[in-house]
Amino acid sequence: MKNSVSKTSLHDVVIVGAGAAGVGVGATLRHAGIENFLILDRSTVGASFRSWPRETRFITPSFPTNSIGMLDLNAVALGTSPAVSLRAEHPTGRSYAEYLELVASHFKLPISTNTDVINIEKVDGEFHIEIDEGIVRSKHLIWAAGEFQYPTTEGIPGLEHCSHTATIDRYEELEGENFIVIGGYESGIDAAYHLAERGKHVQLFDSGCPWQSKTSDPSVALSTYSMERMKAPHFVDRVELQPYTRIAAVLRKDKSYIVSTLDGIQYSTNSPPLFAGGFDGSHKLIEDLFEKRDDGFPLLSEKDESTATSGLFLCGPAVRHGNQSFCFIYKYRQRFAVVAKAIADELDLPAENLEVYRMWGMYLDDLSCCGQECVC
Ligand SMILES: Cc1cc2nc3c(=O)[nH]c(=O)nc-3n(C[C@H](O)[C@H](O)[C@H](O)COP(=O)(O)OP(=O)(O)OC[C@H]3O[C@@H](n4cnc5c(N)ncnc54)[C@H](O)[C@@H]3O)c2cc1C
Repeated sequence: MKNSVSKTSLHDVVIVGAGAAGVGVGATLRHAGIENFLILDRSTVGASFRSWPRETRFITPSFPTNSIGMLDLNAVALGTSPAVSLRAEHPTGRSYAEYLELVASHFKLPISTNTDVINIEKVDGEFHIEIDEGIVRSKHLIWAAGEFQYPTTEGIPGLEHCSHTATIDRYEELEGENFIVIGGYESGIDAAYHLAERGKHVQLFDSGCPWQSKTSDPSVALSTYSMERMKAPHFVDRVELQPYTRIAAVLRKDKSYIVSTLDGIQYSTNSPPLFAGGFDGSHKLIEDLFEKRDDGFPLLSEKDESTATSGLFLCGPAVRHGNQSFCFIYKYRQRFAVVAKAIADELDLPAENLEVYRMWGMYLDDLSCCGQECVC
């Protein structure tokens, strides 16, 4: 059901997206004393998490550490814990969406669901946010529309013959005995694990070798959860790993799918190959409002504001600073308070309550202090 959206009044802030980033930064705006804001989502709260394959679970663990001042790794708001709400260490996407609903309801977040944002323009110092019914106006805009709903569909000729892992409802429903998975980071290993558990044989290709990366940063190396899963007997027996193998093309021939490597080797299967090749990301929709970094991600100020459009902030996994990627919840949530403080300052609000975020390690405003690797 769509909540009513005021198209005449000028909001202090509009957030696009009610996923982990939108809900989390919304709760932080509340703590900053900002009242006149609105969250717009084309679907429901936590819609992307609801669309994960049903077997897929969080790789980052949840644990009720809040009582000793360490926020649950998957929490998006102070005083909350998915471990406590869901009684699960590695929740499924669907159950995590329930946690987000609880957070949204606890903080009484003003969310308009089923409200697709079609276009954004800055006109005379205001953001004009186009939805089906007209224009919503705001002084500030936080883009938190995520990545999951914008999977990569280009890059390898014949990719249209593959199923992106983001489009799989259940691995148990996939027909066939032999599968090819392209991509060996978290989603690819997850797909291979579930297929092998169901007795299927899997060949998994990656242009690198994420499972042997020397770094301790899970934005680059495979998570410990996935490493553990790779030791399961069904994984060891039924998954053939093909590292440092770049796929050149995918062809469909009669009922078969032919996957060719750059070295000219061909593999065939009767099931559509699974593509675990990541996401283009929603920021591409509004790329004209950002300058671009060399890697294509939006260039942001130290407050996560667009360097091209003042008043536009980015929250979520596309946030990048230097060589730091904030692609996990426990990373990008540290920037919610930075964004909320920047907006509160512009609105002349004291935002004193945000200081408590520092105690919880949820206020990373010194970007030089992050990026330390584990030494042992
Ligand atoms: C399989 C998988 C496993 C993962 N496991 C982990 C993990 O263990 N730990 C971890 O920290 N991270 C994990 N991640 C990453 C994590 O899911 C993302 O970082 C997170 O979903 C990003 O949250 P978000 O709010 O930015 O985006 P989303 O959750 O995608 O939310 C964006 C919201 O914006 C809405 N939206 C999109 N476009 C529009 C529009 N034009 N108008 C209006 N609304 C719009 C969508 O409906 C959606 O509700 C995983 C990701 C995947 C795919």
